[in-house]
Amino acid sequence: MLALSALPLGIQTTVLDPASDACAAAAADQIIAPFDDAAALGQLGARSDVITFEFENVPASAVEALAAEHKVAPNARALAASQDRFAEKQLFRQLGIGTAEFRAVETAGDLETAFAELGPLIIKTRRLGYDGKGQARVQTAADFPDALAVIGEGDAIAEGLVPFDRELSQVSVRAADGSVAHYPLAQNVHRDGILRTSVAPAPGVTDKLAQQARAYSESLMEHLGYVGVIAIELFDVNGDLVANEFAPRVHNSGHWTIDGAACSQFENHMRAVSGLPLGSTALITNCVMFNLIGEAPPLASLAAMFGLRVHLYGKKARAGRKVGHVTLLNVDSDFEKNLVAVQALIDQANP
Ligand code: AMP
Repeated sequence: MLALSALPLGIQTTVLDPASDACAAAAADQIIAPFDDAAALGQLGARSDVITFEFENVPASAVEALAAEHKVAPNARALAASQDRFAEKQLFRQLGIGTAEFRAVETAGDLETAFAELGPLIIKTRRLGYDGKGQARVQTAADFPDALAVIGEGDAIAEGLVPFDRELSQVSVRAADGSVAHYPLAQNVHRDGILRTSVAPAPGVTDKLAQQARAYSESLMEHLGYVGVIAIELFDVNGDLVANEFAPRVHNSGHWTIDGAACSQFENHMRAVSGLPLGSTALITNCVMFNLIGEAPPLASLAAMFGLRVHLYGKKARAGRKVGHVTLLNVDSDFEKNLVAVQALIDQANP
């Protein structure tokens, strides 16, 4: 989607991706190699005016090595901070950004202490977890074995359970000259740790909530000397925002911006890292983004629905895999009816 957004700007893209069936290859040249392959990184650098990433598990060391000789954005520091959930939460604290209570957990004893101090908690690996992987909930001592399995995967963090009313995300962009722009807050629903839908704009956002989200995002971007699109996942707790995590990249909860905003998160990321002025983040139309997970519904059924924008990634179906997304635009009186119809199509494809 980044490569697609670059095309009309006349920007050509080369991607480094170890997967031989990488979907970006449909819109970009591809170097097939591991992310830490020095020769491949050298080749990527030689071909590029600017280098960016859209996956936070690329090694920060690779980004650092490239940055020694090339223009790279966002910077390795932002990437590294997002790769360790403990460092990330410490940074939130340092910047006065609300977070859950948290403890570092390396041993069974640490887990017992955390549970005694925080009560019901969620334990997560500090690194490499995504889409709810490497996580367990601890409601009672009976849940300790599952939590110990998480610790077995590496250092972990225990977080107090946040009694949130809903999940929101702030997608923002910062240019090299320090100018910033914010998309409207989106309201997100996760199931099994995977994002299912994003409603944009989130309903019932007060000025206070919107300002708090923007202030969190701005202090983070300024502190990190950030350039590009950033996303912060937030819990709305009784009208107050608690940050869960940030992603130093374009974000799934911002996919709606391709169809629902004046300039998409992808184009704005490309603009920011290329040193161009930012595009408008204004909402064009209210919309709801649905992820297609596992099996996508038949294309003809999706295409038949008025106001539905279809994005298939050309990926093979696999349980839990995001193979595309659709965005339903609120452009006619069938919107509410079609919301139900789209969900039904998705459910039928994944009985
Ligand atoms: P994460 O991998 O941190 O994005 O977490 C996946 C999902 O688990 C989130 O979107 C929330 O629905 C839930 N979750 C994560 N951390 C907490 C927490 N501290 N309290 C309550 N729910 C959480």
